[in-house]
Amino acid sequence: MPQPIRKVVIAGGGTAGWMAAALLSRLATNLDIRLIESDEIGTIGVGEATIPAIKTFNRLAGIDEDAFMRATQASFKLGIAFNGWNGEGSSYMHGFGKIGQDLGWLRMHHYWVKARGSGRVPQNLADYSINTAAAYAGRFMRSRPDMPESPLRDIAYAYHFDAGLFARFLRGEAEGRGVRRTEGKIIDVAQRSDDGFIEAVVLEGGERIDGELFIDCSGLRGLLIEQTLKTGYEDWTHLLPCDRAVAVPCASTPDFVPYTKATARAAGWQWRIPLQHRIGNGYVFSSAHISEYEATATLLANLDGEALADPRVIRFTTGRRKKSWNRNVVAIGLSGGFLEPLESTSIHLIQSHLLRLLSLFPDTAFDPRTIDEFNAQSEFEFSRIRDFIIAHYYLNNRDEPLWRACRDIALPEALRRKLDNFAAAGRVFKDGEELFAEESWIQVLIGQGLIPESYDPFVDLQPDERIIRYLNDIARVITKCVGVMPSHADYVAGQVAAGRM
Ligand SMILES: Cc1cc2nc3c(=O)[nH]c(=O)nc-3n(C[C@H](O)[C@H](O)[C@H](O)COP(=O)(O)OP(=O)(O)OC[C@H]3O[C@@H](n4cnc5c(N)ncnc54)[C@H](O)[C@@H]3O)c2cc1C
Repeated sequence: MPQPIRKVVIAGGGTAGWMAAALLSRLATNLDIRLIESDEIGTIGVGEATIPAIKTFNRLAGIDEDAFMRATQASFKLGIAFNGWNGEGSSYMHGFGKIGQDLGWLRMHHYWVKARGSGRVPQNLADYSINTAAAYAGRFMRSRPDMPESPLRDIAYAYHFDAGLFARFLRGEAEGRGVRRTEGKIIDVAQRSDDGFIEAVVLEGGERIDGELFIDCSGLRGLLIEQTLKTGYEDWTHLLPCDRAVAVPCASTPDFVPYTKATARAAGWQWRIPLQHRIGNGYVFSSAHISEYEATATLLANLDGEALADPRVIRFTTGRRKKSWNRNVVAIGLSGGFLEPLESTSIHLIQSHLLRLLSLFPDTAFDPRTIDEFNAQSEFEFSRIRDFIIAHYYLNNRDEPLWRACRDIALPEALRRKLDNFAAAGRVFKDGEELFAEESWIQVLIGQGLIPESYDPFVDLQPDERIIRYLNDIARVITKCVGVMPSHADYVAGQVAAGRM
């Protein structure tokens, strides 16, 4: 008879391992959870920018926002500024949250597409969104739900944080709820002879740790899911050519902005992530187009402050494990796949896979139908995020060899349809449970220069003067609201670092 799962083993103590431990120990209180991590192997040591859904994780894991932000030296993130993607000197923002306000039943950008050529409305889409306007102005505040008529009622945000400190913070939470951590290196894995299910992991020194469900959080190596179970990997390098990153922190500058910068470079792009105590930087690049040496030199030449450590190169293969869940192993984090950090989605994928595991939690029978459902959902989620990232590369307007090659990427069918629909009349549809909402697609596609040829015909049912007034009203209200917001630096110092009263 199938029994409830009692013993869970988490292999790995990076962001994925400790997120798993913190969430499971909070929501599944009668599990015996063991986590094994190796100080000698260490963690990948990057992964600092998130998307707003992380607030759901924190809430479910019972995390207090200010305490978490203090512990992880976090800053607020309103979006990502893409500099140079649409040609040198260009800039646009993918902000979280809404753009303007709908009129009738249409989204604002349809009216903007019609009116933008008139010279009578703001040209920049960023002027119509509280997130993007505030981000460019370096301002931030949390939402004011007590002001239901104002754009301030709903300010969508995420965080930048120190990934190492985040794992340490979660460890404190998880251990406080009884998760047992063992430091040591897994050197062997015991499998059932009949079906290959994993029975135990064996540590250097001989300790054997038994389990029923194994969560593989061992990072890119995929210790259980790949090295043991040989699950296979779907390589997406032909769709997303960057395969390396070089990362280095640098000293803070007064420019403490509430957004990530993603600046296009000759053979990839550079991230800049401002934290309270330092700035995280990295150059994600295609090794076919630049050497590690040159990429490192480019990164070091483009830091805003003094480098605080030696630059570190990380090699990766974009793609996903053919099955995230195989037998009694669920791969979460980098062991399950990797999409480059352009839209800060990896930590989100950890979260979504954990929630998926909870919603499809097995018993000892490990029903294959449950596992198939998990894998189908995972495949869908990964591939739709992949498509969103591809759109940034495909629609670039740069002239170096990497960027020219990206304009020839053979697009996946779902993405091709999305771009065609948008190009025709600015229409975009969220595909089922895909992560990125219409607002994200609209900002990125327009930002990358895909201005729709036309707009929804319903726009023409509104008098032109009404449209001009409507667009100007939105931009005016946004400017006024941004004007009353404190600077991001003041807000963090006053509301977070010092602790709210
Ligand atoms: C260049 C780059 C930039 C990124 N930026 C972002 C970002 O901005 N936002 C975002 O959301 N994500 C980002 N990511 C992804 C993010 O870093 C990862 O999703 C996150 O850190 C999770 O990593 P992990 O826990 O899966 O793996 P790791 O951090 O590699 O942890 C693996 C763990 O397994 C342990 N382990 C491995 N083998 C053994 C063994 N044999 N015995 C015992 N223990 C073992 C290690 O000791 C470690 O504790 C980025 C990734 C890269 C490569």
